[in-house]
Amino acid sequence: MNNIECIVLDFDGTFTLVDEEAVPFVDAFRQGLALEVGSDLDAYWDAAARVISASPDRFGWEYDGVIVAPSHADPYIRCTTIGQIVLERAGIAAQRRTEILQGLYRTCYPLSRTVFRPDAKMVVEALVGSGVPVHVVTNSATAHVQAKIDVLDPAGKASLQVRGDAKKFVLQEPDRKDPVFDALPARTALAGLSRPVWLRRGFYYQALRKIWEETGASPETTVVCGDIFELDLAMPGKLGARVHLVARPETPDYERQAARSVPGGSTSTELGGLLLHLDLPG
Ligand SMILES: [Mg+2]
Repeated sequence: MNNIECIVLDFDGTFTLVDEEAVPFVDAFRQGLALEVGSDLDAYWDAAARVISASPDRFGWEYDGVIVAPSHADPYIRCTTIGQIVLERAGIAAQRRTEILQGLYRTCYPLSRTVFRPDAKMVVEALVGSGVPVHVVTNSATAHVQAKIDVLDPAGKASLQVRGDAKKFVLQEPDRKDPVFDALPARTALAGLSRPVWLRRGFYYQALRKIWEETGASPETTVVCGDIFELDLAMPGKLGARVHLVARPETPDYERQAARSVPGGSTSTELGGLLLHLDLPG
């Protein structure tokens, strides 16, 4: 396994087919939005989607005034990004737009299904069976992810550690000074993306540091696997971790290129590609 002492996995979109899971969410979100803008929603929606796809670099998940994840990152972010444009064009004021979108998110999210990638169970079992510590680090709530893992029910699931609420989108300094984190630049440029990618994600770093303290591993002996380069892999890759991007159909080329340009980085369209990357049987 080439000196790997620790495996860190994202969850949504990495274990799961998030686009299929979100179908009921997207339907309900559109219905809710239609109540706000009237019968023209389809036209508004399609126009907003065209605006985003014509210049994807301009849109995304904004946190404290900067984009911290792309609009295509998942259907939830995409709906919110489209919703912003739709409500703005319908003449609804900024504060009301935020209230509407947050309300829709809250009521629609529980409708999401659970749809695992077809190879998720096999891959988790192979990873856990390798004897290397496997940790799930996710923005979702720990209990929510743990319940989904119980549904998947892989052999050895008790040794799978889940750390939720990782807040990978938060740009802030960690809770204590740290020379490893201090060496991180504020941002980096990716070939093919006109805006910067922000790296100092101290909250996510704290989750990784805790794992390194517990396992004795270091960034250099860790592999991190996720489905969104910017959110999951950019910071660990810069710290020296090996990264593996599990691409989804709408993952743009710049993300695949960015993952491959990290030393030891790779990509695949199926989660099982991670086993190849690690030279594990699967
Ligand atoms: Mg994900």
